[in-house]
Amino acid sequence: MARTAVPGRLAWRVARLAETRRETETARTLLFDVPDWPGHLAGQHVDVRLTADDGYTAQRSYSLSAPDQVELAVQRIGDGEVSPYLTDVIGIGDPVELRGPVGGWFVWRPGTGRAVLLIAGGSGIAPLMAMIRARRLSGDGTPFTLLYSVRTPSDVYFADELRRPVPGLDVTLLYTRGTPDGWLRPPGRLTAADLDPADTDRDCFVCGPTGFVEAAADLLVAHGHDPRRIKTERFG
Ligand SMILES: Cc1cc2nc3c(=O)[nH]c(=O)nc-3n(C[C@H](O)[C@H](O)[C@H](O)COP(=O)(O)OP(=O)(O)OC[C@H]3O[C@@H](n4cnc5c(N)ncnc54)[C@H](O)[C@@H]3O)c2cc1C
Repeated sequence: MARTAVPGRLAWRVARLAETRRETETARTLLFDVPDWPGHLAGQHVDVRLTADDGYTAQRSYSLSAPDQVELAVQRIGDGEVSPYLTDVIGIGDPVELRGPVGGWFVWRPGTGRAVLLIAGGSGIAPLMAMIRARRLSGDGTPFTLLYSVRTPSDVYFADELRRPVPGLDVTLLYTRGTPDGWLRPPGRLTAADLDPADTDRDCFVCGPTGFVEAAADLLVAHGHDPRRIKTERFG
């Protein structure tokens, strides 16, 4: 994050896959080497373009999941065009075209001094993870709360990192289908009961599938959060 994104026309760059990690049964983290990458802010995304041998191209957006490197966390969509290639096919050293960083609204910068509430659904954790990591790397002590909704315990991305205690970072997992043994909260979607009624003075960032984001944003407003302080990113 040494340099900030320069607005203007963004060039396509050839990025090469440097490293991958398994996140879940259907999701992978991909780390790319990108020549002359200008740096980015936590919350921004990139466009990825694939070109077939016959010249057919497909382009999709992916959030940057780290503030200091070009890392993406991709969920495989079974009948998808692009995500199955990124999760199952691309190998180390293989190229993709990549353009970015994109987006200047859904970003968190260290030093605001304002407490933050992050709400993620599934792969929507990606840009919020970049914010959590940016907070840690910058030594910012702003209180962060993460509510992370996933189907089951095996669907948690960045599970080891999120389990490690970090001062001022409060992580709550919300399972919608299956919980660990002895888990007190019954499985289910995010509800008003998951929000702290006494804690509405926060910058809120919500990311995930469209339906999840809309429901979460509505809950926040109904709960007394200032709509001007709620930022959303929809993955479609
Ligand atoms: C700003 C932005 C950031 C994004 N960041 C990420 C990210 O960090 N990680 C990530 O995995 N995805 C992210 N996405 C979603 C991503 O861009 C693609 O939409 C997704 O990977 C599916 O592409 P595909 O080509 O595999 O599927 P497509 O060929 O586009 O779609 C195949 C089928 O799946 C459905 N579908 C498409 N997307 C989704 C979805 N997200 N969930 C459920 N069904 C879907 C389509 O309606 C269609 O029926 C982001 C989207 C946006 C707009």
